[in-house]
Amino acid sequence: MKIEILEKNDTNLRIIVRDADVPLMNALRRLALAEVPCMAIEEVVMIENSSILQDEIIAHRLGLTPLRTDLESYNLPGVCECQSEFGCPQCRVTLTLDAEAKDGTRTVYSGEIVSENPEILPVSDKIPIVKLAKNQKLKLEAYARLGRGKSHAKWQPVSMCAYKYYPQITTPTEKCEGCSKCIDICPKKVFVMKDAKVVVSDLLACNLCMDCVEACPKKPSPLKVEWETNAFVMNTESTGGLPPERVLREAAKLLGNQLNEFEEQIKAEQQ
Ligand SMILES: [Zn+2]
Repeated sequence: MKIEILEKNDTNLRIIVRDADVPLMNALRRLALAEVPCMAIEEVVMIENSSILQDEIIAHRLGLTPLRTDLESYNLPGVCECQSEFGCPQCRVTLTLDAEAKDGTRTVYSGEIVSENPEILPVSDKIPIVKLAKNQKLKLEAYARLGRGKSHAKWQPVSMCAYKYYPQITTPTEKCEGCSKCIDICPKKVFVMKDAKVVVSDLLACNLCMDCVEACPKKPSPLKVEWETNAFVMNTESTGGLPPERVLREAAKLLGNQLNEFEEQIKAEQQ
């Protein structure tokens, strides 16, 4: 397998994967979405809430606020030694919020949340939680724990993880009349006209919709849009809790663990 990085930053990773197949790509995608753990607020104890939003709505908004995750220092609640419903310092982070609108209406942002562990904080300071009118107050204690996307979307470390086949486009050489219909219809602006010929300017933008082939007045069209069956373009967008490459690494590790477990079980059955 060969991996080539197209784009990489704190939240986005775009790679080309060659010599792979659909089952593997899909397994990694599904593990990234549903199994790779991340931190999210699970319980909120409301001490005072005189805002117009109900406790449940504020708790829901807090739950969906992405938190920076530290997978090394915390255990998943189910596997933590404490086996306690309330958790222990190894499987729970306490966050507090104490906000009051003293001088008139104001918005409470995620940046006002205080954590017992400065590593586990909202990924952005600018997520609005509630708007308070003058003299309204919001005071609460929240408990964040690790969890998996399969039990709630708030524990999904990626907002998007998708792959597509690597496109393969053959542009017409002489049979084309240069009507430029394929260029106009393409929603991804894959083609340009160069010296009265259709050429590909952005191959990876192609999402194989085939609109260009259908728009071509010539039947069969001299324009061919195909794909490589063993090469993929994979796009991963992290919520900010974990770097996107870490999410994919964890997904690969989980797949390995599951296969090892399967191998152990089948060995045990044979004996
Ligand atoms: Zn614990």
